[in-house]
Amino acid sequence: MADRVTAFLGLGGNIGDPAAAMGVALRAVDADPSGSVVSVSSLYRTPPWGKTDQPAFLNAVARIETTLSPQDLLSLCLAEERLLKRVRRERWGPRTIDIDILLYGDRTIDEDGLTVPHPRLAERAFVLVPLAEIAPRMEIGGRRIDALLRELDGSGIERVTNDGNWWRLPTEGTLPGS
Ligand code: ATP
Ligand code: CA
Ligand code: CA
Repeated sequence: MADRVTAFLGLGGNIGDPAAAMGVALRAVDADPSGSVVSVSSLYRTPPWGKTDQPAFLNAVARIETTLSPQDLLSLCLAEERLLKRVRRERWGPRTIDIDILLYGDRTIDEDGLTVPHPRLAERAFVLVPLAEIAPRMEIGGRRIDALLRELDGSGIERVTNDGNWWRLPTEGTLPGS
């Protein structure tokens, strides 16, 4: 069995029901034989970044373990986006779902179609706030996430769930009397 690598995915969306779409995507990653979802941040409502005249986003970050190569992990993420009917129209525009590879172990990858760590990671509070929730002491380029975050404007980012269990289906057998 191939080695399992810890990777971090960034998820977001601002059309339709992004929380439901992110839940479907994370459950698919978790169910895939290539690995599992280890932990997920709370959901955050975040102001649009880059192209600001569009609805607020929901964002979250997930820590996964995977036996997939970075390229195959990207293919899995893009396949999930396609299944969830993402249509690419304009850069940084509205979308039902976006799944980015933020980090893949401690690897640096610079290929056509895949750059890891994600090149805009350190300038995005909407990524670093949820990442800090699940991995505050992790370092990117030798700097801790919480230190990077202190240099960004996190205003307008609002935590909208109490914990990181929002992506799971409601568990059965929780009805009174069952
Ligand atoms: P941004 O990359 O600034 O977050 P975006 O997520 O809106 O922008 P997309 O249209 O979703 O951009 O992706 C365009 C392409 O980026 C993808 O098809 C993929 O090949 C490439 N890409 C490069 N590095 C990564 C990465 N680390 N994670 C996901 N996609 C990546
Ligand atoms: Ca993105
Ligand atoms: Ca993307």
